[in-house]
Amino acid sequence: MNLEKLENILRAEPGFRLKQARRAIYIGLIDDWRQATNLSLVLRDNLNQDCPIGIEAEIFSSRDKNSVKALIHLADGLKIETVLLRHADGRNTVCVSSQVGCPLGCLFCATGKMGFKRNLTVNEIVEQVLFWARHLTKEKARVTNLVFMGMGEPFLNYANVMDAIKILNDKDGLKLGARHISISTIGVSGGLKKLAKEKMQLNLALSLHASNDELRAKIIPYNRANSLKNLIKDINYYLEQTSRRLMIEYLMIDGFNDSPEQARELAVLLKNIDPPLFFVNLIAYNPVSEFKPSPTQKIFAFKKMLRDQKIDVTERYSFGQDIKAACGQLAGKS
Ligand code: SF4
Repeated sequence: MNLEKLENILRAEPGFRLKQARRAIYIGLIDDWRQATNLSLVLRDNLNQDCPIGIEAEIFSSRDKNSVKALIHLADGLKIETVLLRHADGRNTVCVSSQVGCPLGCLFCATGKMGFKRNLTVNEIVEQVLFWARHLTKEKARVTNLVFMGMGEPFLNYANVMDAIKILNDKDGLKLGARHISISTIGVSGGLKKLAKEKMQLNLALSLHASNDELRAKIIPYNRANSLKNLIKDINYYLEQTSRRLMIEYLMIDGFNDSPEQARELAVLLKNIDPPLFFVNLIAYNPVSEFKPSPTQKIFAFKKMLRDQKIDVTERYSFGQDIKAACGQLAGKS
């Protein structure tokens, strides 16, 4: 799908045509212009020829059917992954990618291991959500939440991510509420400050995963360029500006970052966050490398230790491990 091309083609038509075409895409959720019956037959044929809107993808469903992964084939032959997560309460969360691969090479992450190919365009980001919106119409359901937790670091493709969000949030687009959209980052320098200045009430998740610089740099090489001291400064600025509650993500990796001492050290580190508008989300690690997930008792003890220090903690249930659709497992492979 190429929205710029669509605008160019419809420039010769009366002004309302573009609005009609957009409504057909975002509200009608058509996947072929022949379904846009409010447009003339000739125009529909031309659009199908010059601006097709079909999305080529392979679908993989988890055994419990709660996670579905799509491998989307991009026009230049590259592939990206996007995941649909069905929750018991009826929410349907779409996890989208922002880059093909990722240059930051975090050691726990399958995307990081594949290297960096390129940033995704605005259209390629929007298409991932459209793909699932169309898929869900078959079950008379809709996309309710969106998370940028797929392939890539969203702050390294900031402009395109924000433009895609604006299209998806627009009342003439998919009308996804900003409060239902989350961006997950490892805290690329400058990203939090830029986001703090946006007028939208988006959610932010910060992948911390360690209680000190040395430990963090072992799994997130980027930490050498942006220390925890700088990161906490940026977090404090973001919280002061937005007053929005931050989610701090912490992968529980066996024998690496899950000891009682590290829980205590983490609690001390987090006391530097001011205002203290945050909660910690512990995530059982989904193996893609030499690391192993922490056993349940260790996660429980870690959680208790943080709670004893008056820190809000939640634990994330992991979806879709059997189809490699869980966090950190996306690598553009079927
Ligand atoms: Fe990139 Fe995020 Fe994976 Fe790190 S965790 S390599 S930033 S996609």
